[in-house]
Amino acid sequence: MVQQLVAGVHHFKRQVFRQQQELFARLAQGQSPQTLFITCSDSRIDPNLITHTDPGDLFVIRNAGNIIPAYSAASGGEIASIEFAIMGVGVSDIVICGHSHCGAMKGLLHPEYVTEMPAVGQWLAHAEATRRIVKSKYGQRAESEQLEVAIEENVLVQIENLQTHPAVAVALAEGKLKLHAWVYDIATGEVFAYDDDAEQYVPLGDVRPVAPGPTARLADVKSGDARFHAET
Ligand SMILES: [Zn+2]
Repeated sequence: MVQQLVAGVHHFKRQVFRQQQELFARLAQGQSPQTLFITCSDSRIDPNLITHTDPGDLFVIRNAGNIIPAYSAASGGEIASIEFAIMGVGVSDIVICGHSHCGAMKGLLHPEYVTEMPAVGQWLAHAEATRRIVKSKYGQRAESEQLEVAIEENVLVQIENLQTHPAVAVALAEGKLKLHAWVYDIATGEVFAYDDDAEQYVPLGDVRPVAPGPTARLADVKSGDARFHAET
């Protein structure tokens, strides 16, 4: 597999880099991405591919489950990257993008899956609100529906967590930042965005960003609709 990567690097250098030399020369002078894109580590997601953007367009944070610990519980990479994205880079938008078939969300709903992975279990604790919401509101639903709901709710829970970070709160208060809750469907390539007015996810289009606020605006998820049901 690493041989494949090495061959890929050679190809990149010989072909892709040469074709886009101007872009890379410009990027060598600095970056000015407008968007902080937070998504899962899952190998099936390619932020630049699904948004049809170039190197330099997205400042990216990835981790298992696209989770952002609340400020009081945060340390390390996520908190520093958020602060830097806003104060150092000056992004104007933050997208949190969950995805269908998310293994982290499966582990969240089934803690027994991760008993032998204590670090994963500890990390998923930052999404505990998601698990509780799903179990209390949708606990009677079929397994697959609970997973869909967990994926959607988790993005909203993490949007709430994001707002506990001072850099985010200040930028929102100054009107310099917008937050967006997205879910990407691997099977269809569709991206759904949370519509604050409709209070549900709708196909990405003319969707208003999530308005800042202290209280959770959790999706009244209509499971059984067209989302994620194409042959998955
Ligand atoms: Zn995932």
